[in-house]
Amino acid sequence: MKETLTLAAALLAVYLPAHAGDSTEAETAQAVEQFERGISPWIEAQGKSLQVNLLWNSEIEQVPGGGAAGSATSWEAGGVVTLTLAGGLVRHPIATLDMAIFALCHELGHIGGPKYLGEMDADAFAVGTCLPSVWGGTGLGRRIKEASIATARYRYAFVTAGGHWPYPEPSWERSSNDAPGDRLQCNLDIAKSLILGLARPGCWK
Ligand SMILES: [Zn+2]
Repeated sequence: MKETLTLAAALLAVYLPAHAGDSTEAETAQAVEQFERGISPWIEAQGKSLQVNLLWNSEIEQVPGGGAAGSATSWEAGGVVTLTLAGGLVRHPIATLDMAIFALCHELGHIGGPKYLGEMDADAFAVGTCLPSVWGGTGLGRRIKEASIATARYRYAFVTAGGHWPYPEPSWERSSNDAPGDRLQCNLDIAKSLILGLARPGCWK
């Protein structure tokens, strides 16, 4: 019986995507370096440079009303775009390391280009431009899909912890057409439309 359990645990370790809660500082730093390498041609094409600070000892804060302050932040001064990633986001039990890189891409989307992008367009930048540049290779669509779903689940955990949220957890199978106003589902719909080459969802304004 003990051997069976050990084998099951070993199989789970192989088949489950690595959860960020399990990721070490060194693994996270490596993923951040890959992010910087992958996106640097794009940021240079904007006439800007990039600085990413991994704040491994920083925790994240629940914002009343929903949201997570300090998970990942961005600002720009003098053509230098500075992003931060808090270790608390990486350690969150439902986070994944790929999700943390999604968060960096989203933050970069806000201010990296010629004009400020809002929440939905920043997600679209992450899915359509940033993550393909960072990861590339085979299985890219699946990897971005998993990161998008993890992001949706993480956001849902924060809005529901922060107060009443009238919609169910976002799902790859559902559509925000069925629930106008569900912006978390809309973000996932946007990711899906870009990954699968579908029409722009109606909620994406
Ligand atoms: Zn944002």
